[in-house]
Amino acid sequence: MNVPGVEGVHDIKVRLSGGWYQMEIHVVVDGDMTVRDGHAIAKEVEQCLARDVGNVNTIIVHVDPSEN
Ligand SMILES: [Zn+2]
Repeated sequence: MNVPGVEGVHDIKVRLSGGWYQMEIHVVVDGDMTVRDGHAIAKEVEQCLARDVGNVNTIIVHVDPSEN
């Protein structure tokens, strides 16, 4: 996964349920960016994971602000 604007990831959780993956991931972004931009990055992370992993039916992306 390589999404511009993502400064780090942590707390990745993956569950397999009935042949489908459920994923949860925290991404760190610039804490001063707008909600709109943060949301766009989260969407892109979702799409990347869905494409890279395959049979995923649930992806939860938490957006964390970087400390600076
Ligand atoms: Zn977090």
